[in-house]
Formats: sequence, C-alpha cells, structure tokens
Amino acid sequence: MAEKTIFTRIIDGEIPGNFVYQDEHCVAIRDINPAAPVHVLVIPRKPIPSIADLAPEDHAVAGHLLMVVKKVAEQEGVAKSGYRVVINAGDQGGQTVPHLHIHILGGKQLYGHGTA
Ligand code: AMP
Repeated sequence: MAEKTIFTRIIDGEIPGNFVYQDEHCVAIRDINPAAPVHVLVIPRKPIPSIADLAPEDHAVAGHLLMVVKKVAEQEGVAKSGYRVVINAGDQGGQTVPHLHIHILGGKQLYGHGTA
C-alpha cells in the first residue's frame, strides 16, 4: 500500500491539524505556512494524488469540494471581500503534497495570479 500522505495522517489524527471544517467527504485545515491572513486547504478524505488523477467516480466529490470552498470562504469572512482559489498540480505546477487540495487565500489584496 502507498505511504500515507501528510494530509491523510492529519485526517486520521496521527498528526495535528487546525481543522476549520469537516464532513464525510472532505476536511478543511489552516495552512501551516500561510501566504495570506486566510489560507485554508480543502482536502478530500480520499487520497486522490492530484487533479490529474481524478477518475469518473470522483465526479461528485470534485463538485463537492467547490461547494465546500464557498462555505469555508463564508465562514472565514472573505466571501464578500474576495479570495483566490488555487489548485497546484504536478512538479511544474508547484505541487508539494501529492494529495489533491484546494487553497483558499484571502484577507488581503492579491495581485496577478500567483498564490501570494
Ligand atoms: P502545494 O504546494 O499546493 O502542494 O501545497 C501544500 C501546502 O500544504 C503548502 O502550502 C504547505 O504549507 C501546506 N502544508 C504542508 N504541511 C502541512 C501541515 N502539516 N499542516 C497544514 N498545512 C501543511
């Protein structure tokens, strides 16, 4: 079996995570190295390595993740002021954790299209 990702270890309670949302399909945790005042990661419980690995059976969870992004942005108080949603994929995309996750960045003015 493949080694657990750091996000699966957080989801399984093996290492601490700062959870801001949880449901049966996904969790949201604060990024340990925030690039903005609000920096939350929405992560499916299923350890899909990357957006490139989404399979037809992941259709519902993929859509669900976006609904949770919306909910967490409201909860974090950035829905009105605006925020950025980022998914890094693969080496050149800058992905460092091989477990699909959506960054929510907000709480300050963001420019361009980077993550900070
Ligand atoms: P990416 O570069 O898109 O793969 O993003 C991975 C993100 O996970 C980075 O922003 C890291 O700061 C964050 N991260 C790594 N380890 C942890 C952790 N233990 N708890 C919370 N966030 C983490």
